[in-house]
Amino acid sequence: MRKAVKKTAVVLRSLILCLVVCCSCSAPGGEEASCSFFAMDTYMTVTCYGERCEEAVKACEEEIYRLDALFSAGDEGSEISRLNREGGGKISPETAVVLDEAISVHEMTGGAFDITVYPVMDLWGFGTKEPGVPDDAALANALSSVGSDKLFFDREGANLKLPEGGGIDLGAIAKGYAGDRLMEIFKEHELTGAVASLGGNVVCYGKKPGGGKWKCGIRDPRGTPSDIIDTVELDEGCAITSGSYERYFEDEATGVRYHHIIDPATGYPAETGLLSVTVVSRNGVLADALSTACFVLGEEKSVQLWEKHKEEFSLIFVREDGRVVRHFV
Ligand code: ADP
Ligand code: MG
Repeated sequence: MRKAVKKTAVVLRSLILCLVVCCSCSAPGGEEASCSFFAMDTYMTVTCYGERCEEAVKACEEEIYRLDALFSAGDEGSEISRLNREGGGKISPETAVVLDEAISVHEMTGGAFDITVYPVMDLWGFGTKEPGVPDDAALANALSSVGSDKLFFDREGANLKLPEGGGIDLGAIAKGYAGDRLMEIFKEHELTGAVASLGGNVVCYGKKPGGGKWKCGIRDPRGTPSDIIDTVELDEGCAITSGSYERYFEDEATGVRYHHIIDPATGYPAETGLLSVTVVSRNGVLADALSTACFVLGEEKSVQLWEKHKEEFSLIFVREDGRVVRHFV
């Protein structure tokens, strides 16, 4: 049944993919081109400035579709689905890069970030038509194959072996990698500036038309998508947010809300008194993984981590009471 739902989702997504909205025009200080589309389970917008802006937005959109087809655990044709189905196998160089970073953030965060949560995610059914609270025995069974230390990752030999019943889910890191790839495309096309919004991930490059820094709004998790609770100024780099408001379901019997960021220690959605965590960094793949991990770790442990890596990233927390707390150097 779950498979049928996933298949329908893939077909629906393909239909939505056709509804790409693109436009280009002349902006103060040069040409501007923009494109909005649905990929990686979210709405995305890419805006480029410069002589080759149209070519650049097209390249960005194609690159995102390519990465979605490679990394999506819900797409039966993807490399990740093949690995999950076959218990491992040969991996492409890009999957190797992402796995390397995922394992490194797993170690850095004491296991809070863990791509092997896949069997647990599958049980909860987030993103399907039938999400629900798993029963204890099924959850305990799924949890027994969770743990990135149980992966056998041979980077040299480009091979991955999963534990019995195990699987991987790059949902918390793939958009970060995609953002880094877009940054490369912006550079290759010698743009004067560019900004991309990939769901909760914002990537900025070069100069804003008219000058000044890029301003990136942090969503108020208690409001509508257009309600902003804070802003962050960026020269170049990304601001990536993970929050409990992004994907969730409500249990019909109890009215309890369950969101999609899982504490790998319990198999349940992480509850650490936060509504969202934003990570600001030049490194998209790191920021994406860390935004998820810091949500699981909670404020105190995240700040301890930040103290050791201040030069690499900054943090913005939105607490459950709506208070915003920033940690920048
Ligand atoms: P979003 O995808 O909404 O931007 P995140 O980057 O926080 O949010 O990623 C959440 C997704 O990552 C989940 O939907 C799931 O696929 C996966 N995931 C959930 N919990 C974890 C975790 N502790 N470590 C790694 N991946 C996770
Ligand atoms: Mg993430």
